[in-house]
Amino acid sequence: MTIPPEKRMELLVSLCKRRGFVFPSSEIYGGLGGVYDYGHYGILLKNNIRDAWWKWMVQMREDVVGLDSAIFMHPRTWEASGHVENFDDPQIDCRKCKNRFRADHVLESYGVNADKAPLDVVNAELEKLRVEEKLVCPQCGSKDLTEAKRFSLMVKSNLGSPTSELSEEHVVYLRPETCGGIYLNYKNTVDSLHPAMPFGIAQVGKAFRNEIVARQFIFRTREFEQMELQYFIRPEETERVFDQWREDRWAWYLRFGVKPEQIRWYKHEKLAHYASQAFDVEFDFPSLGGFKEVEGIHARGNWDLTRHAQFSGQELVYVDSKTGEKFVPHIVETSVGLNRLFLMFLDQAMVEEDVGEGETRTVLKLHPELAPVKVAVFPLLRNKPELTQKARDLYLSLRERFSCEYDDNGNIGKRYRRQDEIGTPYCVCVDFDSLETNSVTVRDRDTMTQERVAIADIASWIGERIR
Ligand code: ATP
Repeated sequence: MTIPPEKRMELLVSLCKRRGFVFPSSEIYGGLGGVYDYGHYGILLKNNIRDAWWKWMVQMREDVVGLDSAIFMHPRTWEASGHVENFDDPQIDCRKCKNRFRADHVLESYGVNADKAPLDVVNAELEKLRVEEKLVCPQCGSKDLTEAKRFSLMVKSNLGSPTSELSEEHVVYLRPETCGGIYLNYKNTVDSLHPAMPFGIAQVGKAFRNEIVARQFIFRTREFEQMELQYFIRPEETERVFDQWREDRWAWYLRFGVKPEQIRWYKHEKLAHYASQAFDVEFDFPSLGGFKEVEGIHARGNWDLTRHAQFSGQELVYVDSKTGEKFVPHIVETSVGLNRLFLMFLDQAMVEEDVGEGETRTVLKLHPELAPVKVAVFPLLRNKPELTQKARDLYLSLRERFSCEYDDNGNIGKRYRRQDEIGTPYCVCVDFDSLETNSVTVRDRDTMTQERVAIADIASWIGERIR
């Protein structure tokens, strides 16, 4: 059944809350805009996506090492990176309904691309629409909108400050992206691990942005997690390495069940002065009604290390141990939002299916490796000790290897539905035959077909299928 986008988003949000995936932050105090908490199944899914990324980007490679740098960094970091001066979005306000919007998003709704355009260009485009009497508030339809002004996305704290004020002099930022920590640890990594060029440093962690409009559920939030790789190269390798990373990242999406027609490349035409290429991976979100960015792949030249060298006074170079050649490495970066991928996988997986007799089921057809729970074990009846004992023994042995649940609540049909809703690929049922034959039925989430498998083989049977 196809569900219209708004209805689909509503269903997704309510499923996430009802089944303990995602909760709005601080609900008992009326909520905190643009911030979300992850419940039991949410954290299991999020960890699985993170692990799938880490395995592909670090574990399976000999040329990438990991890092976990702190959220707080020396404030000069963000001066060097240009964030203090330039990391902002153009904002406009409606004087009537008092709502605030990103001016580039408003322009986009009129078919004008003002992504990362300077403020005067944004205001000129807005003025054209104003003159044509077309510009109206997206919320209330009023024409009383302000001019666009800059709104910094940097989140400030007074960490370690001698005063409780957020004064510019003492401010320490919460990082707006994780890669800053990679640049600051470039030298430590080279000095301690002596990686051969080319090599990458990967990290996963929280980032904070004072987004003007945090909406579309967890698509854009003020606190989120990024998974970033900075790959250090010789300048002449840029094109080859960039193409290779595009290929590798594309393959990752397909590996975890995204279909080729659900993703596409967006090529940035307007580039930062230091960048030579920038592509986004866009996913066709059914609940957002179209393609939206999930990941960016950028060729950043040697700008980052050069700037941090200038601002810190430290030499950030690579010395070729064979030739003695010394140079500032160039960087190809891949940067993806973990929460955005979480929404992508959920949105892609959620289906409502007719199961006959006027009944429907909601299923999360997640890739088995990403599913929060891999297998659920049921006794056919809860009041037969011989069944429950055998089912619990099986559950206790399976949970050593898999994320596993035991459920004896309600009838079997209801238990299947509950597992379908959280995306559990296999349900194992211990029935009366199990007592005679030492075998169980295994029910497949997607096809709903059942198969009889020997208890002695069940762990390897599941293991083979959830890879
Ligand atoms: P956008 O144009 O959507 O604001 P961006 O181009 O600023 O994103 P980057 O700075 O390149 O994004 O960040 C890399 C990735 O981090 C994005 O592709 C996205 O997946 C994720 N990301 C960025 N901002 C947010 C946010 N506010 N909430 C959730 N994820 C985010």
